Amino acid sequence: MSFSEFDLDRRLEKGISSLGYKKPTRVQQSAIPEALDGLDILASAPTGTGKTAAFLIPAIQYLLDFPRNAPGFARVLVLAPTRELAYQIHEVAEALCSSTDLKIGVITGGINYGSHKDILEKNNDILISTPGRLLEYMDAESFHCENVEILVLDEADRMLDMGFRSFMTRIAEESRNRKQTMLFSATLEGRGIIEFSQGVLTEAARIDEDAPRRERGKIVQWTHLADDYDHKFAQLLHYLQSEDVQKSIVFVKTRERLDQLVQRLQGHEIYATYLQGEMPQDRRMKAIDKMKNGRSKVLVATDVAARGLDITDITHVFNFDMPRTADVYVHRIGRTARAGAKGYAVSFVEAHDMGILKKIESYTKQTFKHRKIKGLEPKHKEAKVPVKKKKPHKKKLAKAKAKKSKK
Ligand code: AMP
Repeated sequence: MSFSEFDLDRRLEKGISSLGYKKPTRVQQSAIPEALDGLDILASAPTGTGKTAAFLIPAIQYLLDFPRNAPGFARVLVLAPTRELAYQIHEVAEALCSSTDLKIGVITGGINYGSHKDILEKNNDILISTPGRLLEYMDAESFHCENVEILVLDEADRMLDMGFRSFMTRIAEESRNRKQTMLFSATLEGRGIIEFSQGVLTEAARIDEDAPRRERGKIVQWTHLADDYDHKFAQLLHYLQSEDVQKSIVFVKTRERLDQLVQRLQGHEIYATYLQGEMPQDRRMKAIDKMKNGRSKVLVATDVAARGLDITDITHVFNFDMPRTADVYVHRIGRTARAGAKGYAVSFVEAHDMGILKKIESYTKQTFKHRKIKGLEPKHKEAKVPVKKKKPHKKKLAKAKAKKSKK
């Protein structure tokens, strides 16, 4: 299947070519025709499947088919949970609209209020925003939703997790002139997301396809046992100095550990870029750009800071510190093997990490190989996770007691 089968506006087709997309991904193949027909969309599509273009292409086609006849606020509103995601969507939207006159704005926290003034006052066709800041503008009456004709809720499951349910409901209610709503979520399995979607969607086309292997990419995963911090560092350094590791993200658990690691790497002439939670937006963008354009090859990040991050050619993810939960592990490693590429996820596991490692193994239904680096083998043996003895069942105890007293 090719994009030409959607019968799109020539200007939009040009935008698609400018991104280098040759043919639609699975989720695009399913969602675009339904959305072009004006149906609401309820789609399960994790990042990496091409979901951004799946909602932007039909929305842009709509704006080109029905040009605006009066000035006003945005006609397409895209809500996204994180700043990075909002900027990524903005980037794709700019590229898709590069041969059109459509105007696109992006609003997020971490930017001073003055710089949004223009976006809010000027005509805007598409507005991409994180919920928090938009809410402030709505309360201050500097933004209204009544011109919104298409509402997109991207990564709706995450926005729900982050506590934005009532805000999303409010946006949906205030966008009372909307003709179409598209809801994208990593999964459609939780009860919360289904309940929520029933409230905001009408007769939606449900797009629930698994991305094919080709698009999911393959992540090869293994672990290294580590005796202590220094041993972990030596092993990480070994990888970062090897040529196979072209672009990587190294995850640490706290900001303090991030600073410590970045400095230590510097001592070995590895100048890593870093992302931490409370960084001004312009510095975050600079760091991400450095990785994207290849000026930097190593990014050290905490989990909060790396939310929504999409750099296509990450070859390796290193868990320098193990994550707290299996779910976070899956999020972390999903930063590699984007758009069908192959990726590697390497975890450094100390004795106290064995518990979480077992949880990850059972969550992901696989057992990781422990690999060794010549000359950097661990001194300690694998720590055994204590198996909890099951408490005897209360009823059983009572029965045993009764038996005893009979005797
Ligand atoms: P997304 O799921 O929207 O974050 O997209 C994941 C990655 O796939 C991004 O780097 C996109 O640029 C890329 N992508 C999206 N659609 C296509 C396509 N039709 N062909 C090739 N790459 C694509």
